[in-house]
Amino acid sequence: METPRTFISQRAHNVDASGIRKVFDLAAKMKNPINLSIGLPDFDVPEIAKQAAAGAINAGHNRYTQTQGIAPLRQRLRADLSNEFSRDVGEVLITSGVSGALLLAILAVVDPGDEVIFLDPYFVMYKHLLTMAGGKSVIVDSYPDFRFDPDRVEKVITPRTKMLILNSPSNPTGIVMSEPEIRSAVDLARKHNLLILSDEIYEPFLYESGKWKVESGETTSSSPLTTLYSPLSLYENTLVVRGFSKSHAMTGWRVGYAFGPAEVVAQMTKLQQYTFVCAPSPFQEAALAALDVDMSAHVADYRRKRDIAYSMLSAKFEIEKPGGAFYIFPKAPARMTASAFVERAIAANVLIIPGNVFSERDTHFRISYATSDDTLRRGCEILLSLV
Ligand code: PMP
Repeated sequence: METPRTFISQRAHNVDASGIRKVFDLAAKMKNPINLSIGLPDFDVPEIAKQAAAGAINAGHNRYTQTQGIAPLRQRLRADLSNEFSRDVGEVLITSGVSGALLLAILAVVDPGDEVIFLDPYFVMYKHLLTMAGGKSVIVDSYPDFRFDPDRVEKVITPRTKMLILNSPSNPTGIVMSEPEIRSAVDLARKHNLLILSDEIYEPFLYESGKWKVESGETTSSSPLTTLYSPLSLYENTLVVRGFSKSHAMTGWRVGYAFGPAEVVAQMTKLQQYTFVCAPSPFQEAALAALDVDMSAHVADYRRKRDIAYSMLSAKFEIEKPGGAFYIFPKAPARMTASAFVERAIAANVLIIPGNVFSERDTHFRISYATSDDTLRRGCEILLSLV
């Protein structure tokens, strides 16, 4: 008898999502968990943006937009970014979330067999998108401090290496690359002629050298107050992707953007035409309105939550202090895999994510502190009691 035909592509088979599925399966069995696993803000979309979205829908902005996005949003971002980088950043392409930008960037740049380097731990999507594109993920261990070590990276560069992905502030570690680290990454990229893809989706969430309003008197940080140090300030072959999902809690509205080398942005625009077509029309209008909202109070809240999580957990766990995003990545107790510790935490009703979802290692776990102070404190207390 003939075996039934499988319609599934090798490409789909090659994407292995078993790690995260196990976590979802465990989570589904929990009743009312203390959830420290969520990768999105716990505040809601700003009211002004909601009204702009509803207004756009009611005003009939429900059709396709130009492939590259609505002109007022593109122009506004180009002006703001050109101001930030003290030079014209060129065309800004509006994408379907940062995920959309990442997919288009990889499709535009990576040929089958091309190698792309990124640090371990990493945001999982990089690996899977590269698999889909036929590229090769070259993953460089950055334990135990999660810093960019140019020697470790240079060792794996080959003639097939085309791109280096940086993600600062990082998911899952919350680590922010310092200026010297960025410089060393740029030096390598320049020397070996690599494109840098800089995933800056957590750019507003900076706690040490962030956009602190000194005049508000909220900061006690002694470090210099600057914006994120982006490789684009040093190296023109940098494609930056940013978005509204985290900064304005619009994860479901799917608006991101990309800017950098004109040639890459033009190819991404062409590919968007035959894939996503455009980012959602009313939410592009809403994103434009959102740019006028001051989100610094939320950043201040998250800095406080970072401090709560770090000060409580560092009593018993080995942790690199995160400087941004809303994650912290402690090491599991000695002689225990992170997966085993996560199972223990889940049995105690605290949902956290084992590091092997983001890493080749199973030694650490990710906590998202984007939750109420009370939930965070209760969760940390339980985790401490499990050591
Ligand atoms: N990059 C990183 C590092 C992320 O953490 C995420 C979301 N978890 C994304 C990109 C994708 O963001 P979006 O929802 O805008 O597609």
